[in-house]
Amino acid sequence: QNALLSATGTTIFTVMSALANQHQAINLGQGFPDYDGPEDVVRAAAEALLDGRNQYPPMTGVPELRNVVAAHNRRFYGLEVDPDAEVVVTSGATEALTACLMAVLNPGDECVLIEPLYDTYLPVVRLLGAVPRLVRLSPPNWELPRAELAAAFGPRTKAILFNTPMNPTGKVFTAAELAFLADLIQRHDCYAICDEVYEHLTFDGWKHIPLMTLPGMRERCMRIGSAGKTFSLTGWKVGYITCDRGIAPNVAKAHQNLTFTTPPNLQRAVAVGLAKDDAYFAGLAAHLQQKRDRLGEGLKRLGFGVLATKGTYFITTDVRPLGWNGDDVSFCRTLTEEAKVTAIPVTAFYASENAPNHYARFAFCKGDALLDEALVRMERWL
Ligand code: PMP
Ligand code: GLN
Repeated sequence: QNALLSATGTTIFTVMSALANQHQAINLGQGFPDYDGPEDVVRAAAEALLDGRNQYPPMTGVPELRNVVAAHNRRFYGLEVDPDAEVVVTSGATEALTACLMAVLNPGDECVLIEPLYDTYLPVVRLLGAVPRLVRLSPPNWELPRAELAAAFGPRTKAILFNTPMNPTGKVFTAAELAFLADLIQRHDCYAICDEVYEHLTFDGWKHIPLMTLPGMRERCMRIGSAGKTFSLTGWKVGYITCDRGIAPNVAKAHQNLTFTTPPNLQRAVAVGLAKDDAYFAGLAAHLQQKRDRLGEGLKRLGFGVLATKGTYFITTDVRPLGWNGDDVSFCRTLTEEAKVTAIPVTAFYASENAPNHYARFAFCKGDALLDEALVRMERWL
């Protein structure tokens, strides 16, 4: 059997959701809304199913969706994209990440990754025989350590994979940070795989800037979006990659060998969603910002150290001010078992030694009543 996979643990999201179920805990761990996305989008999927849109679609995605992915790039970011040659639809951003890594990495190539990182990044880089170079952001401000980042790039660097808005930190990379990254990427003649699944989930006026929009970066970036996050339908698993025509053929060949196609009915529905007016996208962010505030203020009241969240579904909290002396794993376990509320230990997002081990991540993409009930339970427990 494959040794790397044998050595990979079950994902923390599955582990903590199972523990939540076992203890009938409110699950603020795994990041999924407990409400469905827009009804017209769901209805479009049902209609497409009944309309007989059920056989293999074109390999890189149905034209309706590729066209609106291109239009969405123009509308929000001013990017001109050829829908026939520069868009690949995948089965979730998860497949997109693997397809993009496969498209550019050869065994022995180095890939720069930023910790804390989403749990699929590292195993896939390693499975491809590439060498991860980890650079760590530190709480509470998660600033980019520029000298360390520059030192992680070298003659063998082929790509950087990074995530903005960033899970689990809630960080949104600034224009200055992106310019610094763009300069490194160009100087080392490499690619950027940009996990932008939370592109529409930014708060307080923070704007998501795709690295792909910076000068000189269009040919180097693979920009990944997810219908799961943009339409609050995380089980749908429809992702979309935007990349230059120079990279797209390899990305498409990776997709061809991973899944070949993505359900056509869901693709049709996502096309309806991505064509929605600007008010939908602004409303989505406003809705989540209000939830961030509701949970964040409640956690602060209970005595958690609440770190700033500028985007995503997540709040990171410092559990030391509560007087907790154990680590984040024991905190999240005990919180589930005793308070009946589940959070994710942030050490799960670190691969290297000596990760900060007193942070817990809470998802706020839940109904207000559930968020309130979670706060009541934690208050009783504390
Ligand atoms: N990247 C990040 C940072 C995520 O949080 C998620 C959430 N699931 C994904 C990728 C995967 O997205 P999808 O569900 O579309 O595969
Ligand atoms: N992205 C989600 C999170 O961070 C989980 C997705 C998954 O369960 N793989 O919570």
